[in-house]
Order: sequence, then C-alpha cells, then structure tokens
Amino acid sequence: DIAVSARSVSKTYGETEALRDMTIEFPRGQLTSLLGPSGCGKTTLLKIIAGLLEPNSGTIEVNGKPVTGPGEDRAFVFQDFALLPWASVMRNVAFGLELRGVAKSEREAIAAKYIADVGLKGFEKSFPHELSGGMRQRVGLARALSVNADVLLMDEPFSAVDEQTRRKFQEDLLSLVQNENKTFIFVTHSIEEAVYVSDQIALLLPRPSRVSEIIRPSGLRM
Ligand code: ADP
Ligand code: ADP
Repeated sequence: DIAVSARSVSKTYGETEALRDMTIEFPRGQLTSLLGPSGCGKTTLLKIIAGLLEPNSGTIEVNGKPVTGPGEDRAFVFQDFALLPWASVMRNVAFGLELRGVAKSEREAIAAKYIADVGLKGFEKSFPHELSGGMRQRVGLARALSVNADVLLMDEPFSAVDEQTRRKFQEDLLSLVQNENKTFIFVTHSIEEAVYVSDQIALLLPRPSRVSEIIRPSGLRM
C-alpha cells in the first residue's frame, strides 16, 4: 500500500539542477528516510511532496490523488521548527488547526492533548524564547501531530538539539511510527540516524540527483 509516490520528478533552480527524473514510493504506515549528502536535493523533494514547491516536470500523488499544493493530508516539520516567536506554546501548537478553520475552543482542547503528549504540560503559556532547543522541537512536533495529517514530512527535525536529546527524540519517533498509522518521510544526512529510525532508507546521490538505492534494514523493528 503506497501512501506517497513521486514519478519522474525534475526540479531546477535557475542553472542548478536539484532533482532529475526522481522516482520513489513511500509505503503507508512506514518511515522512509531520504539520506544523502548536503545539496543532493532532499529538502527539494520534501518541499515538492509538501506542495510548497512546484516541480518542472513529473507528478506527486498522495493517497492516489495528484498534489497541486499544500493539503490537509500532509504536515511539515521544519528544521528550524518555524515557531511564531510572539505566540505562546498553545497558540503555536493550535496554529495549524487555526489555519484549517477549527474553532478556538476545539483547537485549544486538541492542542492541549498534543502539548501533554510531547511532555510540555505546564508550558502552554510559555513563549519559544523561554524554551530550550529540545522543547521548541517538541512544540513543532506537537503542531504537526495535532492536525492529524496522514503524512508527516520532517526535514532534519533533530539537527538543532544535543546528542542525548536527539537519541531520545529518535526513540520517541520510533514509538510514534509504531503506534500511529501515519507515513513518515524523514530527511537526514546522518547514516546513523537513518539506520536507527527507518523502515526503509532511500539513498540519494548528487550530480545528477537520483535515488541510487532503497535499503530496508532488517531486524530494526520488532
Ligand atoms: P539537500 O536538502 O539535500 O541539502 P537541497 O534540496 O536543499 O538539498 O538543494 C539541492 C540543490 O539545489 C543544491 O545544489 C542547492 O544549492 C540548490 N538549491 C536549493 N534551494 C535553492 C534555491 N532556493 N535557489 C537556488 N538553488 C537552490
Ligand atoms: P530538552 O531535552 O527538551 O532540550 P533540556 O535538556 O534543555 O531539555 O532541559 C531538561 C528539562 O529541563 C526539560 O525537559 C524541561 O523540563 C526543563 N527545562 C529546560 N529549559 C527550561 C526552561 N527554559 N524553563 C523551564 N524548564 C526548562
């Protein structure tokens, strides 16, 4: 069962060729890492899947439907968390629901649940600058989870935290993948991280960008 597919996707920025004829499938309920060196087109592919960027050619399908822009079936977790600095944790987490037109009382109830789920109960009224990097990361994750999208797109989400916190997040992510029937597409340049969290790893190579290999580590998941 394929949740997301990219077919023959190409993308150039002016003279720079970021993706050439990229074809890849993402199985439902699994975590696929896009692994490769800096500049090989990982973020570009993720943004195209998110509908934030248009390819020059090729098609993306989510649940069998062609992607023409951002949609409620996908949520994006940014590298820098993209939190609103002037807004509280509650407002930040509820923001995705606000964009989707959910009424205030309902979205705050939903947001409160996910704030608690990521271990930030009691910090609802705090502002991003009052939190550690790890806590800000959890706010970004709570926002992405709260909109209940099928597909979670994560761009190096753990890059801003220390080694110990990163390992904890990787473990949290593993239990999320096991407990929620969501499809995760996870960008990383760390082989170690990819091997630790993935059901499958797509190895991307630059010049021209292409998927060189799909690796399915065995025995990673019980
Ligand atoms: P990765 O995420 O693997 O580091 P990117 O998708 O960010 O790769 O970038 C792929 C290529 O496209 C790189 O050569 C990068 O410099 C170039 N690129 C990315 N975004 C832009 C942009 N907005 N304008 C021009 N070139 C870009
Ligand atoms: P994280 O693992 O989220 O990066 P830290 O290692 O910085 O957190 O801190 C460990 C714990 O200390 C956090 O989970 C949180 O409970 C508490 N903490 C961290 N920063 C703050 C803060 N600015 N205000 C209150 N408590 C904090």
